[in-house]
Amino acid sequence: MPELEAHPLLSEQQVNDKIVELACEIASSFPEGEPVTVIGLLRGCFIFMADLVRELHRKGVIIGEVDFLIASSYGGGTSSSGNVKIERDVKHDIAGKHVLLVDDILDTGATLQKVIELFKSRNPATLKSCVLLEKPARLEVDIKSDFVGFTIPNKFVVGCGLDYDQRYRELPYIGIMKEDD
Ligand code: 5GP
Ligand code: MG
Repeated sequence: MPELEAHPLLSEQQVNDKIVELACEIASSFPEGEPVTVIGLLRGCFIFMADLVRELHRKGVIIGEVDFLIASSYGGGTSSSGNVKIERDVKHDIAGKHVLLVDDILDTGATLQKVIELFKSRNPATLKSCVLLEKPARLEVDIKSDFVGFTIPNKFVVGCGLDYDQRYRELPYIGIMKEDD
């Protein structure tokens, strides 16, 4: 079982400060006074999204529906590009809504690309996406998230909702898994 590197990549303080910054940007990019439907990609989003909606509230954003979707990728070994399957869809109709998609990390981009494509076909009034982290070195599709917390190196990270084999999601900081050698 690989171990966690002792020194965090991003401290709890850095993450918290960034969420405040992101909430400011997001708040000013949606029409004032109109509710925003927030949709998270489980399971990695759960901590970031919880922090983000509370911060958006502090910035005056009215949160409409909160919903979740589960997408899984398969067939590509360590790479998730190619096949992305929607395992659980959202329960709300997003037509005409202002929608913010929330994910933990943009890696190959396959998941977000698939979900954006699907959601666009449902005709939301606005569709924007927000990720806490992005790893540009791994990006395989032509996609950009509208709001990005941190751009990180090509390392496997955990914490703030991200797991290694279902562990470490609860860490309040972003840590790096040591590479096997
Ligand atoms: P993508 O479709 O962009 O390749 O996949 C993104 C998903 O892969 C993320 O939502 C996350 O679940 C997983 N993932 C990608 N990179 C990492 C990483 O460094 N750490 C963890 N824990 N999960 C990752
Ligand atoms: Mg994920």
